[in-house]
Amino acid sequence: MGGERDLKSLHHGIVQCVQCPLHESRLHAVPGEGDAHAALMLVGEAPGEQEDRQGRPFCGRSGRFLDRLLEKVGLRRPEVFITSTVKCRPPDNRNPRKIETDTCRDLWLVRQIALIDPAVVGIMGRVAAEAVLGEKGNLRDLHGRLIERDGRRYLITYHPAAAMRFPEAAGHIEADFRKLAAMAG
Ligand code: SF4
Repeated sequence: MGGERDLKSLHHGIVQCVQCPLHESRLHAVPGEGDAHAALMLVGEAPGEQEDRQGRPFCGRSGRFLDRLLEKVGLRRPEVFITSTVKCRPPDNRNPRKIETDTCRDLWLVRQIALIDPAVVGIMGRVAAEAVLGEKGNLRDLHGRLIERDGRRYLITYHPAAAMRFPEAAGHIEADFRKLAAMAG
């Protein structure tokens, strides 16, 4: 199908991209994966060590947490599309810088969202909320917020890695994912 072909060619561009400094230290760029026509798209922060090694999104501990979360709300990973704000791992897992998130968003993420055309996008964590929606602040205040931009719906929630560490966030992220599943359904 045309959309899938376009997405594949976009991902081909991502794995070769050298448009921001993050390409210098990566092993593999991580374009993202899942259903090319998913009703739910999830956007995290950046690849970590495992993701950088394998070239796949959310394949470490937070990936297993995310899988369980999806299961709890009646979804399976292949039904959704999972990616991150920047596609290359920042050195020592530092936060990506504005120039990096801006470049990667404008070059790749915006086009990925347009091609997949999901009913709703789950924005996971502070870095993604700021880079994608310009929303700054504490996730305690931001999470659960539904925002419409250019005719598309975005829901802000915690990053799975944060939800793994803080029990309060774990409860909130589950409630947010129930909303996401309902909107995608
Ligand atoms: S993070 Fe994004 S913009 Fe930067 S090199 Fe990787 S793919 Fe390119």
